[in-house]
Amino acid sequence: MTDPVIAVENLEKQFVADDDLFSRLLGWGEPKTVKAVDGVSLDVREGETFGIAGESGCGKTTLGETLLGLYEPTAGRVYYRGEDVTRRLQEDPDLRTEVQIIQQDPYKSINPRFTVFNWVKEPLDVHDIGSHEERERRVLETLELSGLRPAEAFADEYPSELSGGERQRVGIARAIVLNPSFVVADEPTSMLDVSVRASILDLLNRLQEEMGLAVLYISHDLSLLKHTCDRIAIMYLGKIVERGPGDQVIDDPKHPYAQALVSSTPIVDPDKSREPIEIEGEVPDPIDLDPGCRFAPRCPAAMEECRAEEPPMYDVGRNHRARCILYDEDFMASKSPDVPPELRVDGTEGTDQDAEAE
Ligand code: SF4
Repeated sequence: MTDPVIAVENLEKQFVADDDLFSRLLGWGEPKTVKAVDGVSLDVREGETFGIAGESGCGKTTLGETLLGLYEPTAGRVYYRGEDVTRRLQEDPDLRTEVQIIQQDPYKSINPRFTVFNWVKEPLDVHDIGSHEERERRVLETLELSGLRPAEAFADEYPSELSGGERQRVGIARAIVLNPSFVVADEPTSMLDVSVRASILDLLNRLQEEMGLAVLYISHDLSLLKHTCDRIAIMYLGKIVERGPGDQVIDDPKHPYAQALVSSTPIVDPDKSREPIEIEGEVPDPIDLDPGCRFAPRCPAAMEECRAEEPPMYDVGRNHRARCILYDEDFMASKSPDVPPELRVDGTEGTDQDAEAE
């Protein structure tokens, strides 16, 4: 296994709740906050694609943006190649060249007043890298590498003259022109026609292999993540509730929320079928979360004990963990035979039951 390029430990990002700005301005008491990212720990290794999945509002984009230095973490640590960079993430110019983003919307992410050439060259100008000739050569090479061939034919175009797929290739070229080691890909194909998605994914895979990039791939599309990612984490209300090898998390999810999420994903194989699991109820208000498991108000397996304290992560398989009390063997043994058979889970056998407080 390669070394981590980026690692985070108990990362938190809180925002003041929008509807509490008034009291904050008037100095009335402590402002209410939303923990968009709440105690997340993970690492992304050289040449690895790590997928983050979850419904909108679960904190996955905030996690990516905090790693890019767009927000200062409220708590926790960020490491770049083993070095603590938590306080430098936002201003260290060397670090800023190492972490880049491929944005979701190729129609909004490119400044319409820039030509393709100038848009891709701008990061080299900002970081004052290379002579004029070297920058020109680097931009043309990067456009070619991103599948915009011949580069000269695209260099003087404006975004309005390009298709969605071509614009996303320009976005990718800008993200890799500084030769970064870590890229956050935030739903990079979700705004594109189905017909061009596969070619953009192929491009990302090829670039990753050639450049040894570590990629954090954010998406709500679980089948895409399964085929793209080495490991996957599922987030719910700011917390990781399950993580493990991509195929295990999607083929055999353990956390009740992950099971429901996966069950709603279409199956490509016509010989297989799966019953969608309906999640009842609304996502709780993130400002006033009750103690205990945050999925408890919607979980069909919730018990009284689930509402007492936040469950830790339990081993549920090889390198596979889930934040659910159903995988606490001692607890489940003590509950038996109170727990109805349909709520007992298989799969705890053979796991070492190490609960990880993350
Ligand atoms: Fe459901 Fe309890 Fe597991 Fe939370 S801890 S997911 S409420 S069974």
